[in-house]
Amino acid sequence: MSDTIYSYFNGEIVPLADAKISILTHAFNYGTACFEGIRGYWNPEDEQLYLFRLREHFERLLGSTKILGFKLPHTVDELCTITRDLVRKNGFREDIYLRPTCYISAEVIGVKLNDLPVGFCMYSLPFGAYIDIEKGLKVGVSSWKRIDDNMIPARAKVAGAYVNSAFAKSEALLNGFDEAIMLTSEGHVSEGSAENVFMLAGGKLITPPVNENVLVGITRNTVMRIARENFDLEIVERVIDRTELYTCDELFLCGTGAQIAPVSSVDHRPVGEGGVGPFSKKLQQYYFDVVRGKVDKFKEWCTAVY
Ligand code: PMP
Repeated sequence: MSDTIYSYFNGEIVPLADAKISILTHAFNYGTACFEGIRGYWNPEDEQLYLFRLREHFERLLGSTKILGFKLPHTVDELCTITRDLVRKNGFREDIYLRPTCYISAEVIGVKLNDLPVGFCMYSLPFGAYIDIEKGLKVGVSSWKRIDDNMIPARAKVAGAYVNSAFAKSEALLNGFDEAIMLTSEGHVSEGSAENVFMLAGGKLITPPVNENVLVGITRNTVMRIARENFDLEIVERVIDRTELYTCDELFLCGTGAQIAPVSSVDHRPVGEGGVGPFSKKLQQYYFDVVRGKVDKFKEWCTAVY
């Protein structure tokens, strides 16, 4: 690894310390940006760093920019190339996190999304666990409702929308929980502050459908594929009531940052026996093999950097 950490800013790879925006920047003042969170996993046997589902992340970024009405200044192919160049320049030989952001770079006063210049930047840093995924999370249902599609659409990963997540997460932490689950305005289970939700009940794996104000998670998709193809489980996308969380057999959150995060209790009620459920544990182990490029049938999800 080089001593300087590099990032991508204004069309070139520059030291992270030089990648600076003005306090006048529109995105800083109004949250008018969209972003992605991508992980890279070091595989010591292969001496290789694998970027997990890189294309899918940039395709979703493209979707977020379309929703916001931004013109993303690069194609998905270009973004994949920029990412590999950036990671190579940093020379990372460990697990990393990548944060590409597309933002309104204008230095003007006034809230709107159209006819303003859009910039693109990305940083890349060494990164380990985001939340404790070993012992099972204590989760609380939040009093903060998930933002609705015609407020700030959750399917777009909009920077400003994360204030909704931050309210929920802080409330959870201050109340002694590890994480929050938010409900929709109708009172259905939506998602965590930065994770999708799955429950195991009646031998089926159940998750809220994409129109329950969730970010359509890439890990969510990964879990659905693995559970169906490897564990022969039926996947059901349907509306989930709050109290189903209290009676299900297993519950876990998933996301790029959280990975597979088993839940041991919800609103002080143990999930199943409490602790980490057997399916969640098996899924977690398998997921780590997949992301490190150890499972041939899912190797296409892993982009080698070196
Ligand atoms: N929901 C929200 C609100 C998130 O921020 C994230 C993390 N990106 C997720 C779900 C999980 O998405 P993914 O699996 O694509 O990281």
